[in-house]
Amino acid sequence: MARIKIDQLSTVYPNGVRAVDSLDLEIADGEFFALLGPSGCGKTTLLRTIAGLEQASGGSVSIGDKDVTSFEPGRRNVAMVFQDYALFPHMTVSENIAYPLKVRRQPKTRQREVAERTAGSLSLGGLLERRPGQLSGGQQQRVALARAVAIDADVLLLDEPLSNLDARLRLEARTFLKRLQKDIGITTVFVTHDQAEALALADRIAVMEAGRIRQLGSPRDVFRRPSDTFVANFIGSTPMNLLDGTIENGSLSVAGATLPSPVDLPDDTKVTVGIRPEYLSLEPAGQGITGTVSTIENLGVSSLVTLECPDGSLLGLTVREQHEPAIGSTVTAVPEQGRLLLYGKEDGTVL
Ligand code: ATP
Repeated sequence: MARIKIDQLSTVYPNGVRAVDSLDLEIADGEFFALLGPSGCGKTTLLRTIAGLEQASGGSVSIGDKDVTSFEPGRRNVAMVFQDYALFPHMTVSENIAYPLKVRRQPKTRQREVAERTAGSLSLGGLLERRPGQLSGGQQQRVALARAVAIDADVLLLDEPLSNLDARLRLEARTFLKRLQKDIGITTVFVTHDQAEALALADRIAVMEAGRIRQLGSPRDVFRRPSDTFVANFIGSTPMNLLDGTIENGSLSVAGATLPSPVDLPDDTKVTVGIRPEYLSLEPAGQGITGTVSTIENLGVSSLVTLECPDGSLLGLTVREQHEPAIGSTVTAVPEQGRLLLYGKEDGTVL
């Protein structure tokens, strides 16, 4: 097991695309770390550069105390699971799991023993003689994981390993993966574009954009206090409300309402006001934003209510189904104490 230290790392493709751009990052020993971001932000390239499958153009990658920047993938002692699992179709489950040991010329009995033990811990015990084509997606995913952890690697790298599973299996696999990672305690870097998955699984998350890290923090930090409007837009299953606001007479004027400003700013400062739908509630009285209920969307146990405010802006809030207001009624949404965020108009960073 080992920590990963990345210093000023850049990965530039031959076509000139700077997929990873002077990036610094330290991942602790035993940490479950998620790289999150939209398509093309460079998360897969960063993972592949850690693995040695892409060559760094500048900077360094260290695993444990070793600078591995110039090491071949095979010398880095990392295990990787790819999005499509990359199982060998002509080999049995047992042979697939034992493959890395075979390559390392371990004795047959040891290969068999490790395959059986690993398969057992991943609930694949009865499937050792099957071939990948005879397995469900969830089982194939577990075989890929088993093969990765069969060698005592220092680091486990996962590239969207759950993306080929349907919604139900995905939830099951998430729980499984989290438990496995904590049991083995292996330093794990997990690439996903699914923010809910990152929030659910990771100890810490790096939100990336254009080859750089926009925010680094615990799922709670990133959810509660996105450091800029890019992260605010990206995180959350219902998007954060981002409204135009102005400081007037020391208070915040937003969507036709006047609220206490969470930050002391000079009058006439223009800001973007961020508030999550989950942190707004409908109150009969209180200082909030008043609007007319325009739509209600069913989210399961809760509903997303959209208000149209006097200045035309739209405000979303979630309520329990039994508290749904009537469409067309006028209601007031009150922000939970301390949950209103202000972002600068120029650079979109939190104030
Ligand atoms: P996705 O979620 O779609 O996989 P990503 O965040 O993992 O995206 P990367 O695959 O790392 O992003 O790609 C980062 C950038 O590098 C993109 O602009 C992409 O087009 C470019 N890129 C990726 N692979 C190559 C390659 N082999 N050659 C040239 N450019 C590449």
